[in-house]
Amino acid sequence: MKSMDALVSLCKRRGFLFQSSEIYGGVQGLWDYGPLGVELKRNLKEVWWQDMITGHNELATLAGAPSPYEMVGLDCTILMHPQVWKCSGHYDLFHDYMVDCRESKKRYRHDQVRGRFVEYNEQKIFVTTLAEIEHELEEIQRRALKFFKLRAKNAGEISIGSESITLDRLDSHDEVLGPDAKSLGTLTEPREFNLMFKTTLGALGGAEDTTFLRPETAQGIFVNFKNVLDSSRMRVPFGIGQVGKSFRNEITPRNFTFRSREFEQMEIEFFCHPDQSHDWYRYWRDRRMAWYTAMGLSSDSLIMREHESAELAHYSVGTADIEYAFPFLPEGEYGELEGIAHRGDFDLRSHMEGKLDPATNPMTVQLGEDGKPKYRGSGKDLAYRDDITNEKFIPHVVEPSAGADRAALAFLCEGYTEDQAPDEKGKMQSRTVMKLHPRLAPIKAAVLPLVKKDGMPEIAQEVYGELKKHFNAFYDAKGAVGRRYRRQDEAGTPYCITVDGDSLSDRTVTIRDRDSLEQTRVKIDDCVDEIRQRILA
Ligand code: ATP
Repeated sequence: MKSMDALVSLCKRRGFLFQSSEIYGGVQGLWDYGPLGVELKRNLKEVWWQDMITGHNELATLAGAPSPYEMVGLDCTILMHPQVWKCSGHYDLFHDYMVDCRESKKRYRHDQVRGRFVEYNEQKIFVTTLAEIEHELEEIQRRALKFFKLRAKNAGEISIGSESITLDRLDSHDEVLGPDAKSLGTLTEPREFNLMFKTTLGALGGAEDTTFLRPETAQGIFVNFKNVLDSSRMRVPFGIGQVGKSFRNEITPRNFTFRSREFEQMEIEFFCHPDQSHDWYRYWRDRRMAWYTAMGLSSDSLIMREHESAELAHYSVGTADIEYAFPFLPEGEYGELEGIAHRGDFDLRSHMEGKLDPATNPMTVQLGEDGKPKYRGSGKDLAYRDDITNEKFIPHVVEPSAGADRAALAFLCEGYTEDQAPDEKGKMQSRTVMKLHPRLAPIKAAVLPLVKKDGMPEIAQEVYGELKKHFNAFYDAKGAVGRRYRRQDEAGTPYCITVDGDSLSDRTVTIRDRDSLEQTRVKIDDCVDEIRQRILA
């Protein structure tokens, strides 16, 4: 089991992550990326963009893809028209219920939009199916049963330890934190509050000027669907990707950067024909899982959790979470890295029509007192007409939605390793090494003159100058070379290039591999190519 404390301390010591506004005591749920952290996160976003968007070859059919497809990117504003959040459902539904336990002083939250139910110290307990309940039995018994009478969709008698309880049907999420919670008398009244940060556009600050910092990047893509379609002349199927900041006023930010109040998302909205949407859902689910393992997460620490049908939003035929065994979670528990959701035509239709028919879209129904939809959509026709078949339809959407900060944290957790390596005299010493994939590593290569004399620094400077044109490289001439290696190991630098006495005569250097510790001699003129090949290997 990796120690989270050791990782957190390395992140601060080596400049991966700092608490925001630390000199004033810091702010919960806000984190700054230091000189190494910023490179890691930039690389992560760049690799995602390269692999998913610009590097995608629209003429090729990738393994598992139903057909070739196109991908483009977008960069939308954080502040948007307030109506966006009304039609998306966030204004009315993106809130948490917060309940405090009077006895234990613990805090519980309930996320209605996501159908996520009760959170106990970051462990989410979904009480929508009997299977889920059974899975969580001990946890529920220990922490929850005192406070809630749990209800499940699959009603019936079940045993929890020595107790036998009857689970009634769960009709609405509110009920559990509503009457039951109150009647137990151990909890404060549930307080409801929206997770969106409110702000004001313009100087007057009237109610109509109120808008929100976006809680997800996805909506910018939906409202620009027509613009992208008209300007790029793409044909369905195609995807639009976006990377950017999102903001959520989380009640319980914790576990380092895992649940932050300001974070970055890497989202794709993939538009396809409704008949093909199931195949595309499966394709994206598997492709995204494969991406995490290709970038270095161990498949033993990753799971794909398909949501039970009762757990799905009403419009969705499938949602899967890619989850990682973060070391701060108890053994056997996983935290979400990315959700891949089949969203049907829900979003485009909402932005066309506003709130919809209660029979088909119960979650979005917000009828005003006059019985008419509370919010109007844009009224714009967001349907797609296929120019070959002439068929007109509202595309279905598959959404792989990843968090850049959570992924960065997972790669840091996975990479953090304590092992043994020989020092200059060949004696084994314990070392801390951050085994990041070379594509993600903040510094790709460090150039180290063996000693600060005999012309070695000059050659090292030449190598460094050449590398710098292509990668983030680092020059270090201070201290014993063994110590310099250790510093680079901690920073996750995959390759150390050492200039020694032989370099002066034969213009070669050694490249030391961070993980295998193997040293290879290469010509100075081949250094850039060699490093590039190794990074991409
Ligand atoms: P959770 O259940 O953990 O709150 P979510 O299901 O609400 O997450 P989504 O709305 O599906 O998350 O957002 C997509 C991705 O954005 C998540 O998989 C996660 O990687 C990231 N994300 C969401 N909320 C946060 C947060 N507060 N801090 C950091 N990353 C986040």
